[in-house]
Amino acid sequence: MTMELKNIKGIGDKTLKILKSEGIDDIQSLLYLVPKNYIQYHLTDFDMLNEMNLRCIVSEAPEIQRLKKVIKISFKVTYEGLIINAVAFNMTFLKNTLKVGDEIVLVGRYDQDFKSIQVTKVFKEREYKEGIIPEYNIEGINNSNYQKIVLEALKFYEPKNSLIPEEYYLKYGYKTGIDLFKSIHSPISMTEAYKAIEALKYYELLSFSIRMSIIRSNIEKEVKVPKKPDLEKVKEFIKSIPFELTQDQKNAVNTIFSDMKLNHPMSTLLEGDVGSGKTIIAIISIYAAITSGSQALVMAPTEVLSFQHYENFKSYFKDFNVRVECLTSSTKTKEREAILKGLKNGDIDVVIGTHSLLNNEVVFKNLGFVVCDEQHKFGVEQRKIIREKGNNPDVLYMTATPIPRTLSLTLFNDMKLVSVKTMPKNRKSIITKIHTYKEYLKVLEFVESELKEGRQAYFVSPLIEDDSENSNVLKVKNDLESYFKNYKIGLLHGKMTSEEKEDVINKFMNHEIDILSSTTVIEVGINNPNASIMVILDASSFGLSSLHQLRGRVGRGSDTGYCFLLVSKTEQIDKLKILEETQDGFLISEEDLRLRGPGDFLGVNQSGKLNFRFADFVKDKKILENAINDAKELIKNYNVYTYYNSHLYSDKFD
Ligand code: ADP
Ligand code: MG
Repeated sequence: MTMELKNIKGIGDKTLKILKSEGIDDIQSLLYLVPKNYIQYHLTDFDMLNEMNLRCIVSEAPEIQRLKKVIKISFKVTYEGLIINAVAFNMTFLKNTLKVGDEIVLVGRYDQDFKSIQVTKVFKEREYKEGIIPEYNIEGINNSNYQKIVLEALKFYEPKNSLIPEEYYLKYGYKTGIDLFKSIHSPISMTEAYKAIEALKYYELLSFSIRMSIIRSNIEKEVKVPKKPDLEKVKEFIKSIPFELTQDQKNAVNTIFSDMKLNHPMSTLLEGDVGSGKTIIAIISIYAAITSGSQALVMAPTEVLSFQHYENFKSYFKDFNVRVECLTSSTKTKEREAILKGLKNGDIDVVIGTHSLLNNEVVFKNLGFVVCDEQHKFGVEQRKIIREKGNNPDVLYMTATPIPRTLSLTLFNDMKLVSVKTMPKNRKSIITKIHTYKEYLKVLEFVESELKEGRQAYFVSPLIEDDSENSNVLKVKNDLESYFKNYKIGLLHGKMTSEEKEDVINKFMNHEIDILSSTTVIEVGINNPNASIMVILDASSFGLSSLHQLRGRVGRGSDTGYCFLLVSKTEQIDKLKILEETQDGFLISEEDLRLRGPGDFLGVNQSGKLNFRFADFVKDKKILENAINDAKELIKNYNVYTYYNSHLYSDKFD
């Protein structure tokens, strides 16, 4: 039986409640709460230059003085016969706690301006302890009490036998089990503490990397029937495309073709900046798969994008005897049934829709090729479901958010990476400017000048959870209507029905609408070459990659595109600055990863696993690389493989 927290010495009802509210409900979680910081205390002499821990006696009681912004507390102490001034700021409680004659330890530095020690901490002599003190910063439990509880709990901790052979942690000098937690909660030196935290990061990344390696090796073991595309037909199709493919597009198509011909399923991540022309690569590949007798499925993150793809695919395939259908959650029952039937009996060649296509009801005669557009919205588990649809289909994931290398090594380890780096010729640049709302009128004037030239504009507002989402874009729309009296404004947001959405998008495409006031439903995919302006409101509430995506909606025609990012505070400008400076999606995504962590790259909801507890993708690159390399070896170990293979998608950190 494991010991319960309430039975541990030092944990009363009050403490138990606080721990609960911090998510701590057993010994394990108590131990895994890593200190936010460590402070090193040791007694010093009086010292004008360095930080002091001075054992002294209060010789003059504190006096309080209210200055403009702070409260200054001055008092005097004696240290070995020396009388020294001390000042502290805002620590008003000292007034009542320090009495003449008290033995105390002052922590602080000598300040030349005040001719005093500037105090940062005051201890009663008997409460002061030399050594390294962990700081947990839990409200209601002071740091030394938390430490006491942990050390007490450690007596009852029964570590599991680790599956990882000893040599792996020995080679980095990492401790395990009880010793590890001692180092974390009661280290003798800072080095020991940091090393122990590094060990936790390593174990966490290792456990993650092992899972990813197993997923990959499992995929490599899968078999499929190799495809035999009819190359004559494919060439004919490529000839019908109204532009010449770029070299990168050709390379991508070739890579995909050779993977189709293999006898294990393809899993490829096609990354290319927005506008780099990924869709046509998917269309050609799908056509090739169809000529080989397969059906194809195209999954888009939103209905809006599904409709777009649907129109686009239909027009490319119109002379090639390919039947395309669109199936979303709002397809009418009758039509839906007809589509399901057509997929089952093989009459339909391509079906486009959202993730509802992964539904069990959707059955294919021979699904051989799957495209996931904007795949970063699909997490590791979704990828598993996709792979299991049909008979081990080839899967092509497409993303306009370039994946930083560290991420692709781990999260996308189950895929082959293919990049489209060059843009189609004649791509116009996008001029990006960040403004505060003070300059909003100027922006509107500029928008008007473009509208006069016959161009169109997007106004994007952030998605706000709850119903004000709609009122927000609606308000923007109303404001725009009163400003741009001679122009038509359309509204697009996630809560509209799909008919309404389709209708407004068609109107925008046909220029019956001049401005589209929208939420981020347009983030991916909408392609209106006549739109030249993108105005993003409250831009600082978006990630850099999302902003880059959004602005990619303009500058698609023969004119320069303009993107205006509006922020409420000047301080917010700095973080977005990189968008004014570069259009390189790679640089931007690296910066995004640095600023916001990896959550955005997979869509936070679907990827709890990404948010590591101890490790940080960016800062802990070296540890991550070690973990990845070790994982590759470790999955050859029977015990490791068996255990992790049966816990592949578990969230648990062990
Ligand atoms: P994304 O990679 O962002 O999905 P799309 O596939 O939507 O980009 O392509 C953007 C636009 O570029 C489309 O209008 C497409 O027809 C066009 N396009 C794609 N490839 C080329 C090319 N090689 N030459 C000219 N235009 C191209
Ligand atoms: Mg696209």
